[in-house]
Amino acid sequence: MYISFDDTDSRNAMCTTFLVTELIRTGKYDLIGYPSLVRLNPNIPYKTRGNGAVRVRVGKGNGNKTLCGYIRGDPVYSYEGSEGEEDPESIFDDIYSIVEKNYQREENTNPGMVVSPDLFPEYMYKEAVTGEVGLDHAVRSNMELGSKFGGIGNGRGIIGSSAAMAWRGKRMTYEIIGYREGAHQIPEDIKMEAALYADGVDGTFNSVDIHNRYPAIFPNPRTPVVYGIRGVNRDSLLQASDTINRKLPFELDSVILFETNQGTDDHVEHYGGDLQDLHTYRITGSVGSRPFTSGGSHYFSTLTVSGREVRMAAFEPTKEFRSSFRQLLPGDFITIYGSFLKDTINIEKMEIHSISREYVRFPPICRECEDRMANRGKFSYECEKCGTRSSIPAYNEKKRWLKPGKYNVPVMARRHLSMPFGFSPISMEKEKRELFA
Ligand code: ATP
Repeated sequence: MYISFDDTDSRNAMCTTFLVTELIRTGKYDLIGYPSLVRLNPNIPYKTRGNGAVRVRVGKGNGNKTLCGYIRGDPVYSYEGSEGEEDPESIFDDIYSIVEKNYQREENTNPGMVVSPDLFPEYMYKEAVTGEVGLDHAVRSNMELGSKFGGIGNGRGIIGSSAAMAWRGKRMTYEIIGYREGAHQIPEDIKMEAALYADGVDGTFNSVDIHNRYPAIFPNPRTPVVYGIRGVNRDSLLQASDTINRKLPFELDSVILFETNQGTDDHVEHYGGDLQDLHTYRITGSVGSRPFTSGGSHYFSTLTVSGREVRMAAFEPTKEFRSSFRQLLPGDFITIYGSFLKDTINIEKMEIHSISREYVRFPPICRECEDRMANRGKFSYECEKCGTRSSIPAYNEKKRWLKPGKYNVPVMARRHLSMPFGFSPISMEKEKRELFA
């Protein structure tokens, strides 16, 4: 039986993923496969942080098993399959009471839960990772699909839960998450050392931002999450987590390995002539204007695509990426990836295919005495020695420091879903074949 849930946390407390450990702690369920952390449209305004929903498959485990984490030092296993029948009603009651007990009671937190024997049609994931889905639409789909579902507050979390139920993991990565009990904090130097270590582990990505001194594996310290290390090699992640746990000044409560859609670019759509608010696009075109800045922190320019001018921006959080962006010139041929909000593409990464040539105009050499002529106004030159005049300037190509290539924003500005250039996710189907082989 599959269970999904969403929207249980506030900015200052809880993390929806933590509820997986609460479900296991009931002692009633084995995990079948790994739990899934499914990120949805990063532009949705009601998200708390990373717009993540969670799905787990539970049952009575049978077949091969593999390590999936620890709770209070005891190993948690993920099983290949499940035996016997499960009762959706009692599973729903269990998840409802876990959510009810743990969710953050505030206006913006509206949990939703879904229990279903089968995954939902994949388009329901696609809709929610790329666009905006209405609550009525999600509720109607659940009724048609015959799931057991429900919500607390306005129940908006049913949208994310239904989308998580529809994720197939054609492209996927892993994240191993360590949780604390209580409010233990970690000194900054230990965080940096651990993040640098994680960065060196096989297959990891987005662990540290060295330039901005940001240990990215350590998120907001006000939630139960101590760290999250992302990568494509689950054994390396389990080992990395053991090593980091030994560096921490306190014992963790639990560690769980999730399969996720992070780093997959699943939110990106190919631009086909239409731009809709809150969607993320990949667009190729020629730079239309020299970048300009508003007060030195955000940079703007335009991209000409099939005769249309699209406004694009590198905002302040993209830090050093802006110094590449501001060197763009009209005629540069590029592909940008970014979300469309307020009539502007907010760039997440950029590929420069070719750069245009820029020339500087200056006075020509006198054909009589071979001295450089003097400037006498626009397209008017005169030799100061012999008085020869000319209206034809000389041109020199200006050196451009910007090179064709792929430009990522720094780790601290990356969206969970963005696939950094140079990184490749894996596929769930292939992983499953190898996992229990
Ligand atoms: P965290 O990442 O810490 O779990 P969060 O950023 O996921 O927090 P939520 O608290 O889950 O934020 O809130 C996101 C809300 O937006 C949920 O109610 C979810 O159902 C809803 N939602 C997610 N994707 C969409 C979408 N594409 N269209 C409409 N609503 C959505």
